[in-house]
Amino acid sequence: MGVNEAMTAKNLMLMGLPGAGKGTQAERIVADFEIPHISTGDIFRAAIKNGTPMGLKAKSFIDKGELVPDEVTNGIVKERLMENDTAKGYLLDGFPRNLAQATALKEMGTELGKPLSAVINIHVDPNSLMERLTGRFICRNCGATYHKIFNPTKVEGTCDRCGGHEFYQREDDKPETVKNRLEVNIKMNTPLLSFYQTQGLLHQVDGNQEISKVFSDIKDILQKL
Ligand SMILES: [Zn+2]
Repeated sequence: MGVNEAMTAKNLMLMGLPGAGKGTQAERIVADFEIPHISTGDIFRAAIKNGTPMGLKAKSFIDKGELVPDEVTNGIVKERLMENDTAKGYLLDGFPRNLAQATALKEMGTELGKPLSAVINIHVDPNSLMERLTGRFICRNCGATYHKIFNPTKVEGTCDRCGGHEFYQREDDKPETVKNRLEVNIKMNTPLLSFYQTQGLLHQVDGNQEISKVFSDIKDILQKL
């Protein structure tokens, strides 16, 4: 790869708290810039299924019910970044998750000639995320799903479909669970954000806008790289 190509490659990492709209934006980015979406969950499953050296290592830990160590996770990402479809760029999603992984990524990026060119953080304040993530409720009688903000019942307290009046929330959507999930993620993201800020790679995008406006803001950033 020539110097110019290396400089224009979209080597990206996407960040955002749960509910910030990361999945939707990831889909749009990879479609628009024709780069592969490298999400850790997917590449783990693929590496294990294909029996790659790192995949086999990962499997040995998972089979024992142990946490996969960073060096194995890093190895799986490296194997993936070495594939040819990342020549024009890539979009990392769910990696790195800590500073050790971020440092490893920096090293492998340099070694492979595919260093990160930008980290995009879709920022939505935690209070709005609480509203988004705790809004879902379900009719106990017929199972119809609603959302307080995005998809309320036509008449408050009455199911549109069956006229039922009893609703419940899934465990995952309850305020305590959501609050905890957000806190865990904030704790995980904070050091990464300052790491990438220091490296001059971090770009903040306001995620509290229409989906298409968020995407056009991301596009503006990427086109200027
Ligand atoms: Zn119902």
